[in-house]
Amino acid sequence: MSDKFDVIVIGGGPGGYVAAIRAAQLGLKTACIDAFTGKDGKASPGGTCLNVGCIPSKTLLDSSKHFHHVQHDYAAHGITVSDAQIDVPQMIARKDGVVRKLTGGVSQLLKGNKVSFFHGTGKLKTGLEVEITPADEGDTISLHGKNIILASGSVPIEIPGVPFDGEYIVDNVGALDFDHVPDTLGVIGAGVIGLELGSVWNRLGSKVTLLEALPDFLALADKDISKQALREFKKQGLEIHLGSMVKSAGVEDGKVKVTIEDAKGEHQHTFERLLVSVGRKPYTDGLLSEDCGVKLTEKGQIDVNEQSQTSVPGVWAIGDCVRGPMLAHKASEEGVAVAELIAGKPANIHFDTVPWVVYTDPEIAWVGKTEQELQAAGIDYKTGSFPFAANGRALAGGHSSGMVKMLADAETDEILGVHIFGANASELVSECVVAMEFQGASEDLARIVHAHPTLSEAVHEAALHLDGRAIHRGN
Ligand code: FAD
Ligand code: NAD
Repeated sequence: MSDKFDVIVIGGGPGGYVAAIRAAQLGLKTACIDAFTGKDGKASPGGTCLNVGCIPSKTLLDSSKHFHHVQHDYAAHGITVSDAQIDVPQMIARKDGVVRKLTGGVSQLLKGNKVSFFHGTGKLKTGLEVEITPADEGDTISLHGKNIILASGSVPIEIPGVPFDGEYIVDNVGALDFDHVPDTLGVIGAGVIGLELGSVWNRLGSKVTLLEALPDFLALADKDISKQALREFKKQGLEIHLGSMVKSAGVEDGKVKVTIEDAKGEHQHTFERLLVSVGRKPYTDGLLSEDCGVKLTEKGQIDVNEQSQTSVPGVWAIGDCVRGPMLAHKASEEGVAVAELIAGKPANIHFDTVPWVVYTDPEIAWVGKTEQELQAAGIDYKTGSFPFAANGRALAGGHSSGMVKMLADAETDEILGVHIFGANASELVSECVVAMEFQGASEDLARIVHAHPTLSEAVHEAALHLDGRAIHRGN
């Protein structure tokens, strides 16, 4: 095989593999290098997202939701199920099967698009050269690219004094693979991972306590939504301590002892297992040779401009290892955009309309600005909202918690943000993303026919409410 490529992608996560496929579709001779090794000891492209992130977490969220429904919700439908049991190894095996299917699918897609795949670690050298150390410890391979795309992703942040041990004190990888339901689970950080994986084990019967340093719950979300969500999650049995800064943790007699400091001073908590989910940091270990010329930011991200170009011409970087939200869909869209720019096509991404989703039950999803951000920016806005408790489909399905809140410019009526707490919020937000991409007004969503009975009618009603003409709620 020739060692010269138009595009070499280092990293095969949702940023890297998507960039590689799009580059190949555009007729560019493309290689993709990924270091991840699956549980079967083989290459497992798909990155954090497919292997130990988005997909396995959503698989366990779904399994645990079934278990919860059987125990708590079926009786109201007149369905009696006695003695429901959870078989954790079977649940984990199903999750691993879903991961295998998807990562195998990515391998097939790369092959089908004639992307040359290398299982190993890639290092950028000077002169657009990439050196690969194969995962099977074979001889190093050297490739040359006209363009290199760095897509090396991110890893969990470790708190000083709280070392991961892979069994008692774990990150997302460990919490996706517990072999039984821990009686008690401590979670440091009530962010996205803490809430999602905390919900999984809470539904399966663990007593889950989240210790969050900030005084505010889900500080990135709109306050009306985070307030409702906090109430709801506490009702579900999650114990959430805000303003609790973790100082240290250690394992004693098979239990994890955690020392925290809050307004009342220092306390200790004891848990069977501890999940640390205090954020992720860009991963660039072993990626860059000292003289390759690629600059990093103070935060350790690969420094890129708006078009994802690094400080070295011909070297690009995308996904979690660069600025912006650490989200799979953001990484993938950057991958597509960079491949298209390399092929000489116009491409850009509207970061303002990247949707956010937290896959709790109910889900939290939003796009655009929060009310707090609009206030801070001095923008004159109007709001509309609609509770799912007044939506027929939500009641029929037993999903009456939550609401849709819409924010629009007071003068032009352009939609500036939509915030949803409710069943299928992850799907409902897409309509709002489309509306905002087209610089739509709340009047546009108010005039569009929404099927009845659907949850999407709550979005429709929130848009109507902005103009004081919601039909199914008092204005
Ligand atoms: P990654 O997916 O991290 O992929 C990088 C790949 O590059 C890895 O396979 C790594 O092994 C490889 N690599 C690194 N260095 C080298 C090298 N030198 N040579 C070769 N290979 C290398 N996001 C969402 O949008 N929705 C979700 O529901 C969601 N859920 C998540 C749940 C969890 C538990 C976690 C941890 C994350 C979740 N995320 C979610 C975030 C999402 O996983 C990331 O934003 C996304 O994976 C970033 O994609 P990426 O391609 O930039 O990096
Ligand atoms: P996060 O940033 O969502 O939450 C981390 C939380 O930990 C914050 O609330 C922070 O205040 C708190 N914290 C930090 N230090 C602390 C300390 N010493 N003691 C107590 N609390 C502390 O990070 P995460 O949950 O680890 O997730 C990482 C990233 O992965 C997310 O930002 C997101 O980009 C991505 N992710 C996305 C999804 C999704 O899209 N559904 C799901 C999981 C992860």
